[in-house]
Amino acid sequence: MGGNEQNYVQEAFDTNWIAPLGPNVNAFEESIEDYLGNSIKVAALSSGTAAIHLALELLGVGYGDDVICQSFTFSASANPITYLGARPVFVDSERETWNISPGLLEKAILDGMANGKKPKAIIAVHLYGMPYKVSEVNEIAAKYDIPVIEDSAEALGSVYKNKPCSTLGTIGILSFNGNKIITTSGGGALVTKDVILKNKAVFLATQARDNAPHYEHTHIGYNYRMSNVLAGIGRGQMEVIEDRVNSRRGNFEYYRSKLAHISEIEFLKEPEGFKSNRWLSCILVPSYNTREKIRLALLEEDIESRPLWKPMHIQPIFEGCKVYVDGTSEDLFQRGLCLPSGSNLQKDDLDRVIEIILKVLTQ
Ligand SMILES: *Cc1c(COP(=O)(O)O)cnc(C)c1O
Repeated sequence: MGGNEQNYVQEAFDTNWIAPLGPNVNAFEESIEDYLGNSIKVAALSSGTAAIHLALELLGVGYGDDVICQSFTFSASANPITYLGARPVFVDSERETWNISPGLLEKAILDGMANGKKPKAIIAVHLYGMPYKVSEVNEIAAKYDIPVIEDSAEALGSVYKNKPCSTLGTIGILSFNGNKIITTSGGGALVTKDVILKNKAVFLATQARDNAPHYEHTHIGYNYRMSNVLAGIGRGQMEVIEDRVNSRRGNFEYYRSKLAHISEIEFLKEPEGFKSNRWLSCILVPSYNTREKIRLALLEEDIESRPLWKPMHIQPIFEGCKVYVDGTSEDLFQRGLCLPSGSNLQKDDLDRVIEIILKVLTQ
């Protein structure tokens, strides 16, 4: 926590705004809007998953539609597609950012169109905070007139060509889950340049209540609005977002500086114009066996590390979905490891991790 969170939570109690609306919700939204830029509108929601669900609905995705989704991601990017009775089409990553491959994306779109089924939307992800190839993806999306949902759950504080991630697609989404760079314990947001879209998101997120003295409904609604208590945590967190980005980037730079001389270890570079918040510090090693050796050696010392995300197209639950893959994400999953990356890690903590990795690789 940054320091002021409890004061804002106390304010919610003192003023009796214990509800999914109130001054903290409005102020939290405004602080994100200020951070992202003046023309941006933000709707605070109960989770990033809820934000993706609403984004898909607002873009008109419905039963039987195809939605393209980056395969190399957390399952929450893809699950909401199925909530609407639509079907995910998984597209592999390229090696420079580990995110959706523009070449395979276009192939998936062209195939869909050839079969009389143009995809209804594209979900692209800034995985681990690294921006995807936004210009290329947007160009393809514009060429075929398909909206882009920009999954920025891991990328608050990341920047692409001087513009903040979550403002670069048709609709952006953020997450404030407990593991993200800032948190409200659980929470999310929908990000848009269109105030009408924001209002529609809030309308759907608050049970789609029409304007009437009684309860009148012409739409199916959801209970997806953020609590005013949790938004208080968010207000405090937004005051320290820049510190959090700096510490995450600091972790990454420290690991890199101490491990750069080991030829077996690869770090993902930032291409020109890309700035990652380095939400997690990840490494690639030459083989699955080496990755497991490092992971188990860390575990032996009570240090948790994790393999990179297992791609969606090899998850049992998504068996049988359409896929456009070239082996990239499966290879990353085999050889990649997320190292301890918390914003509160001290130099001593990082040194312990580094020492164990060096021991494994120089044995
Ligand atoms: C965390 C995460 C989500 C979901 O956010 P929640 O707030 O946990 O629902 C979606 N996509 C990605 C890539 C994530 O990492």
